[in-house]
Amino acid sequence: MNILVVEDETNLADAICKILKDADYDAQAAYDGNTGLDQAQSGNYDAIVLDVMLPGIDGMEIVRTLRSENNNVPILMLTARTTTQDKVSGLDAGADDYMTKPFEAEEFLARVRSITRRTGDVVVDDMSYGDISLDTESHDLSCNGRSVHLSQKEYDVLCMLVSAQGRVVSKQDLLNKVWGSDAEASENSAEAYVSFLRKKLGHVKSNLQIATLRMLGYRLEMTNQD
Ligand code: CA
Repeated sequence: MNILVVEDETNLADAICKILKDADYDAQAAYDGNTGLDQAQSGNYDAIVLDVMLPGIDGMEIVRTLRSENNNVPILMLTARTTTQDKVSGLDAGADDYMTKPFEAEEFLARVRSITRRTGDVVVDDMSYGDISLDTESHDLSCNGRSVHLSQKEYDVLCMLVSAQGRVVSKQDLLNKVWGSDAEASENSAEAYVSFLRKKLGHVKSNLQIATLRMLGYRLEMTNQD
């Protein structure tokens, strides 16, 4: 896995590259914003560690530019700033995660693992379970030739249930993964979407149902239809 480190403090940039290389990543440093953006646009990297304050184009602008070009490379932003507003701006601009300098190598590596795993989640080989399948591009739910379109949140929720392949998905996991840091999300949101999905599973006449396990969460179960 090849990681680009965009950081103008050359000692820190080199130290981060060493931490990454010691953990068996390939890492390359760019010491200013323009070089960083050029290299990020090359498509040669699996993740980018990006400082906010840079000479030339700053980190926020690099994130915005990449995202506006539909470049979804995972980005971990680094900054000396600690205010919530800066954090929100970074994430709003399209960064995947955010770390305040200085940081411990171990936590840094955990964040890198986390953002690179997130891309892994998107590329799912087999999005089917029982008699249903999910189209990862069109977000259509299909069953025996019948299909129905899912909204983004419905798709995200069903994706988690299908990925679990019949195992229990906790309500908290659903909320964390589908709603993330959205303060509006509550257990009621999860229940509402599960209820929409039950109707859609019924619509395509699937013999799967979403079972609620009290205190545990949800899972897909086969029903016996005569
Ligand atoms: Ca800097």
